[in-house]
Amino acid sequence: MEIHKMQIEDVVRPEKRRRALTQEERIRRKKRKRKRKLIRMAAIGMTAALSFALIAGVIALVLFVSGGIGRQESIQAVLSEEIRTLKDGKKGKWQDFYAAELAMPAMDVELLTVNEFSRPGIALPEVKNIFIHYTANAGTTALQNRSYFESLAETHERSASAHFIISCDGEVVQCIPTKEIAYAVMKRNYDSISIECCYEREDGQFTDQTYQSLIELTAWLLHKYELVPEDVLRHYDEGGKLCPKYYVENEGAWDKFLVDLSQYMEQAAE
Ligand SMILES: [Zn+2]
Repeated sequence: MEIHKMQIEDVVRPEKRRRALTQEERIRRKKRKRKRKLIRMAAIGMTAALSFALIAGVIALVLFVSGGIGRQESIQAVLSEEIRTLKDGKKGKWQDFYAAELAMPAMDVELLTVNEFSRPGIALPEVKNIFIHYTANAGTTALQNRSYFESLAETHERSASAHFIISCDGEVVQCIPTKEIAYAVMKRNYDSISIECCYEREDGQFTDQTYQSLIELTAWLLHKYELVPEDVLRHYDEGGKLCPKYYVENEGAWDKFLVDLSQYMEQAAE
C-alpha cells in the first residue's frame, strides 16, 4: 500500500512538488516565458507590418491611378501638340505665299439686303474651310442667282445664299461680306466661306473662265485666312450633297483643280 499512498500524494499535492522545482526547471520556465513573449511580440510586429503594407499598398494604388490619369493627360497634350505642329508644318510650306502681296480679284460687290432667309447679318466667327458649289441651274448668270437669293427675303421659300457667285464668263459677284455668315453648308455656316459657280454644260463642268476666276478667288481667300489648298472642300465633302456635280462625279477633275490651285499659289509666292 505504500506505493499507492505515494501515488495519491503525487496527485493531490502538486503544489508541494512545484515548490520543489529545481534551478534547471526554473530556467526552462523562464525560457518558455521569454519564448511566448517573443512569439507575442512577433505576432504584434507582423500585424503592424501587414497593416503598414496594406496602407502603403492603398497609397501606392491611389498614386498609380492618379499618375495614370496624369499620364493620359500628358499623352493627349503631346497628341494635340503633334497635330498643331503638323498643321503648322502644312502652313509652313505656304509662308512665302502668305507673305506675298496678293491683289484682291476684280469683283462686282452686290450685297444682299439683310434678311432672315439669305443674309442674316450674323458675324462669321472663324474661317476653317472654303466650300465650292455649283448653282444646280445650268445657263444662269451670277446676277440671276444673286437675284434669287435676294428674292428669298420676300418669298421665304427657303434659306440659301453664298458669299460669292462666279459667272460663266468669269465675273465674280459678292453677295455677302466675308465677315458675315451665309446659308450655304448646313452645319458649317459658322466657320466657312462659300463660292457658287455657274455652268453651261449639263454635266456641271465649269467653263474655263469660271475655273480661272475660281482659282484666283479661292487663292485670295486662302491667303487672307492663311489656309492651305487641302482646306478647300466641295459641298459634297460636308454632308454628301451632289455639289458641285461634275467635281463629285469626276474625282480626278477635283484633284486637278487642287493641283492647279496649288500651282497658282506657288507662282504667286515667287
Ligand atoms: Zn452646294
